[in-house]
Amino acid sequence: MAIDPIRRRPPLIFFFLFLFIGIWSPVESNYIAYNTTQRIVPDKLNVHLVAHTHDDVGWLKTVDQYYVGSNNSIQGACVQNVLDSMVTALLADKNRRFIYVEMAFFQRWWRQQNDAIKKIVKELVSSGQLEFINGGMCMHDEAAVHYIDMIDQTTLGHRFVKKEFGQTPRIGWQIDPFGHSAVQAYLLSAEVGFDALYFSRIDYQDREKRKDLKSLEVVWRGSKTLGSSADIFTGIFPKNYEPPPGDFYFEVNDKSPVIQDDVLLFDYNVEERVNDFVAAAIAQANVTRTNHIMFTMGTDFKYQYATSWFRQLDKFIHYVNKDGRVNALYSTPSIYTDAKYAANESWPLKTDDFFPYADDPNAYWTGYFTSRPALKGYVRTMSAYYLAARQLEFLKGRNSSGPTTDSLADALAIAQHHDAVTGTEKQHVANDYAKRLSIGYAEAEKLVESSLACLTSPDSKSGCYKPVVKFKQCPLLNISYCPPSELDLSTGKSLVVLVYNSLGWKREDVIRIPVISESVVVHDYEGREIESQLLPLTNASVYIRNHYVKAYLGISPSVKPKFWLAFPVSVPPLGFNTYFVSNSKQTGASMSSLCSSQGSKSSSIEIGQGHLKLLYNVDERKLSHYFNTRNLVKANVEQSYSFYAGYDKNGTDLQASGAYIFHPNGSFPIKPEGQVPLMILQGPILDEVHEQINPWIYQVTRVYKGKEHTEVEFTVGPIPVDDGIGKEVVTQLTTTMKTNKTFYTDSSGRDFIKRIRDYRSDWELQVNQPVAGNYYPINLGIYMEDNSTELSVLVDRSVGGTSILDGQIELMLHRRLLHDDGRGVAEALNETICINDKCEGLTVQGKFYFRIDPLGEGAKWRRSFGQEIYSPLLLAFSEQDGGNWTSSHIPNFSAMDSYSLPDNVALITLQALEDGSVLLRLAHLYEVGEDKDLSTMAYVELKKMFPDKKVSTITEMNLSANQGRATMEKKRLKWKAEGSTGSGTVVRGGPVDDTKLVVELGPMEIRTFLIKFEYIFFPKMGQP
Ligand SMILES: [Zn+2]
Repeated sequence: MAIDPIRRRPPLIFFFLFLFIGIWSPVESNYIAYNTTQRIVPDKLNVHLVAHTHDDVGWLKTVDQYYVGSNNSIQGACVQNVLDSMVTALLADKNRRFIYVEMAFFQRWWRQQNDAIKKIVKELVSSGQLEFINGGMCMHDEAAVHYIDMIDQTTLGHRFVKKEFGQTPRIGWQIDPFGHSAVQAYLLSAEVGFDALYFSRIDYQDREKRKDLKSLEVVWRGSKTLGSSADIFTGIFPKNYEPPPGDFYFEVNDKSPVIQDDVLLFDYNVEERVNDFVAAAIAQANVTRTNHIMFTMGTDFKYQYATSWFRQLDKFIHYVNKDGRVNALYSTPSIYTDAKYAANESWPLKTDDFFPYADDPNAYWTGYFTSRPALKGYVRTMSAYYLAARQLEFLKGRNSSGPTTDSLADALAIAQHHDAVTGTEKQHVANDYAKRLSIGYAEAEKLVESSLACLTSPDSKSGCYKPVVKFKQCPLLNISYCPPSELDLSTGKSLVVLVYNSLGWKREDVIRIPVISESVVVHDYEGREIESQLLPLTNASVYIRNHYVKAYLGISPSVKPKFWLAFPVSVPPLGFNTYFVSNSKQTGASMSSLCSSQGSKSSSIEIGQGHLKLLYNVDERKLSHYFNTRNLVKANVEQSYSFYAGYDKNGTDLQASGAYIFHPNGSFPIKPEGQVPLMILQGPILDEVHEQINPWIYQVTRVYKGKEHTEVEFTVGPIPVDDGIGKEVVTQLTTTMKTNKTFYTDSSGRDFIKRIRDYRSDWELQVNQPVAGNYYPINLGIYMEDNSTELSVLVDRSVGGTSILDGQIELMLHRRLLHDDGRGVAEALNETICINDKCEGLTVQGKFYFRIDPLGEGAKWRRSFGQEIYSPLLLAFSEQDGGNWTSSHIPNFSAMDSYSLPDNVALITLQALEDGSVLLRLAHLYEVGEDKDLSTMAYVELKKMFPDKKVSTITEMNLSANQGRATMEKKRLKWKAEGSTGSGTVVRGGPVDDTKLVVELGPMEIRTFLIKFEYIFFPKMGQP
């Protein structure tokens, strides 16, 4: 913040002021008792001073560096100083108030405090001087996060606040994330029980219009399905989350003029500073409804010496109220919210969301939707693993001494921060997030292994005393590295493959594992041979495998697998099935037939052994047609790659493309170089088409016999930048569909929102960036429709995507850029991977999936398969040396026996808590009107879901499980929206009857329960 250097007081005025005050009250030159007791005054403009600090849970420094205040040459920031000094500052005056937001920091501090300080802080909290706001572990991002992760990290923070302080945060405070999702509004705010949500970053054009119309404060209806029942009062700050314009920064080194009110000293400035304050208040009042405005007094990592701020705030309150033109008071977002509510106004209604965000005509913050795609993929993979690991922890019984999922929970929570999964942190901080995830995974992996050992053990029902079997897992299976499966079977050993399904439905899928021999056969646990297929490992896969194993693990694998072995599996809900791979002498896995487009005599090649067929044009070596023999959907579909050149800082426009901002300087098609033919592998389970798009893009397209979608696995990198041009790599699926500028993208992995190119529903959009300004975040998928079909694309991690041309969908897959975009991170987004100081650009491998359905039938696939993508099957490996596994182990298991959840319900949390209770969350997956059969009330029978347990108590909770649902409903403020005609017909499930134990879920409803099960005894023989 620049300070105006010519701020000087005219000496004459100073002289008179001195005389006047000096004569009037000579006593005040010694001690001034500042009156800070002011409360709301009904007939005045009330200026709510909210003292706050915004503490990023990692950004330029790691979370721990920020906490302890190390690495200060990067940024002088120490959260420990903030929290220490806050206590003394609050004790000095009981009218002072402070809010604290990020529980990841607060927890670190809390466990280091002695009992005396803890007692004091608890008193500060219960008196309301210190208030927890938002209260999740971090202030999560809203674009690159999945709603399940948002729920988990909020729950973790909220339960900590509840346990230590008995408090339930009332206010959502997403002041810094770069755009805001509908899911944040209705789910992570209204359903959590918040009374209001505040933030600052919305499109600059939107903000200007809202200031004109005084519509910065709105009632936000984020869910079409839940309607007004999930409305949230939402306040958008007029500028940012800092103090108002006019020099009100009071950190020790800040340059704003402090109030000098000692008449015996020079530079007395009370009147001038009071005038500055009143002017700022009036300016803000001019864009705000009601006579309440909020000054956010603080910003990033402020209050490291809290007294420095509070001293000034005391004086402002004292002198401004003496002046009397406006009323200034210590406040919090809760007090402010209550004042707004008491005004009994109707507020403008806002629907949909606040994406994309631009702070300048050429600065769309849509690059971060894809930045650091490997980290985004890792977060998603770990999120799924966390979900499955908690289930297994529950099924085995939570053990206080053994490994837990707690450190993975912490690492994942922190990774949802708005400078973590977003990819907008410095490289060393990104490494820190990955390290935390890896450590958390390692512990959870042990838990999973011991749980599976227990569940496969015949004595598992009686408490699993001595499981002996050892299971191993393969976190690098995606790059074909899996030592347990690369076993030499010729000695007579067989590989045991346990497949765990964390979904509440039975699942049919195809798994693939690397093997070293072509003489293999797969059996199920009943000894039946399972059809299987071998696909040779390509040179491209072998290179990635060797290079990245060396880089990540520091080893060069000695065994060289030659094939992928693919076979279909069928796994019961919330359970596992076991398969056996052994040496075969005669029958066994089918070798894929291999052909090349080069030798083909016909002009096209068809792939697909089931209903779905893809046709490739041989001359052009590319996909041309899609058809489904079951539903007769036919379409011309082409796929292409291109890159956007990132703007550098040269020329007239200084806005570079960077970690946050996507600012393309032209689009360039990527054409296959030379005449590299398509390689086609075909077999009984699946067909694959391998394409070397160019030297740094490799793609495999898969069509499975039993599936009606296409799977595309891309390997992009190292993106060359020797030409000095940063590149953002995209792929397009192009059809002849007439889509009329319209497409749909998900909101944080949940609701789909209609997007219209070059259009915003809230204002007349001035289009400056026809590409970047039409990008949206995608966590689940994107689809478009015409009058007969719909094309859906689903993703395996968060990416950016759009439809720039009618009939076309585009995804951004990877970015490598050479300039910083000037939003604070001060680093170019140029990820590399190094072996012995030799570095190259990071290669990213990922998948997307597409399918075309008759109009109105796509939702089933998007929802069901979307859940399968989110929760992949968990594979664990063991081996046996002859003998019969099935006679000594349980080979097939479902925690739900023969029960299955309805097709429209997903189990999103099943977790044994420390206190012995169980957290259960069920989510209806469909919006109202989304599917003719499945957008209906769903019923889950808990007795069947937990067949061997007896529910002793069940309590419905709010979303973050820190208060009873009924209490929350009763407390939560109901706001009035302009032009809204009441609640409409919202379908929600009724209360759960203790004896029937059936949970009803209306469309899009997520219900959270705390359950206590009766302890079931297994008396030993001979006991009574
Ligand atoms: Zn921030």
